[in-house]
Amino acid sequence: MGKLKLFVLFLLFCVLAFLSWRIFYEFPDEWSISSEKKLPIVYSDNYDITLFGLQKLHSFDSQKYSKIATYLTERVGISKEKFHAPKKIGDDDLLLVHTQKYLDSLHNPAVVAGIAELGVLAKMPDFVLQERLLDSLRFATNGTVLAAELAMEEGWAINLAGGYHHAKADSGGGFGFFADVPIAIKKQQEKNPKLKVLIIDFDAHQGNGNEMIFSDDRRIFILDIYNRNNYPQDEEAKKYIDFDRPIGSLGSDEYLDVVLESLPLAIKNAQPGLIVYNSGSDALLGDSLGKMNLTREGLIKRDELVFEYALKSKIPILMVLSGGYSPASAGVIGESIENILKNRIKVD
Ligand SMILES: [Zn+2]
Repeated sequence: MGKLKLFVLFLLFCVLAFLSWRIFYEFPDEWSISSEKKLPIVYSDNYDITLFGLQKLHSFDSQKYSKIATYLTERVGISKEKFHAPKKIGDDDLLLVHTQKYLDSLHNPAVVAGIAELGVLAKMPDFVLQERLLDSLRFATNGTVLAAELAMEEGWAINLAGGYHHAKADSGGGFGFFADVPIAIKKQQEKNPKLKVLIIDFDAHQGNGNEMIFSDDRRIFILDIYNRNNYPQDEEAKKYIDFDRPIGSLGSDEYLDVVLESLPLAIKNAQPGLIVYNSGSDALLGDSLGKMNLTREGLIKRDELVFEYALKSKIPILMVLSGGYSPASAGVIGESIENILKNRIKVD
């Protein structure tokens, strides 16, 4: 057989293989609670931050992670063994995004206090801060890395922490120490350099860290809806938002109109192979840092819409929780995840 014929046969084989993959490949869309299989939900008991009660000085509910996990186990009936548990991330992976100089600076309690916006931390010894604060964040950061892996395999995944979108390569800010989402994306790009990612950032604050880290990466698209009057008002980072939606304190209906206007447009334009949803419950009415007016029902609807659009477009979606540490936050996030799961898993 001539080389040309072989080549034509090979091409035909490729086309048939692609077509059958398109026809038969579907995301598994139903998990059963009673099955042996784990759910693509990532959680560790190490996520909570306990600094000898000092965390109570802060406006953060630093136990929100275990509260959400408890909500899912007690109210939804998912046993804890169903969650994937991450290991602590090592410096090698942090260096995919951060500079060594920055990582070294996190051994200076004054730097840590500045990023956590909690002055009293400057008086604590380095080893305590590493053990009681930064190690928790290392677990949470690797949780996002693991969840990205699971999202690519299963079609969706949720890390019950993460979304530290103010962390830049060489600095932290607004409680963002490690740029978990950029690290997770870079790990995926190592395997698939062509992977395009859409970051949907609905936290009440502008995601300036992610924007700066990906400023020269044309494979990454960012849709950012945030309160324009909030920290950080980073004009330099703003230049790298592909779909920039700074808003005032809108009511739920108007807010959801902005979501409905921008979400399909961003997905259509970016054509991503992965969506990272930086959800952010600080858009909730009453959150002292977010200063927005989204009701409980509005927030649940918002999260549902993002999942619905991603899954309808057959794009894997990874959700991270990002900001929102008011006392009401954990409960609303629990309800919202329960609402998302209703369409994903069979509770029997
Ligand atoms: Zn925020």
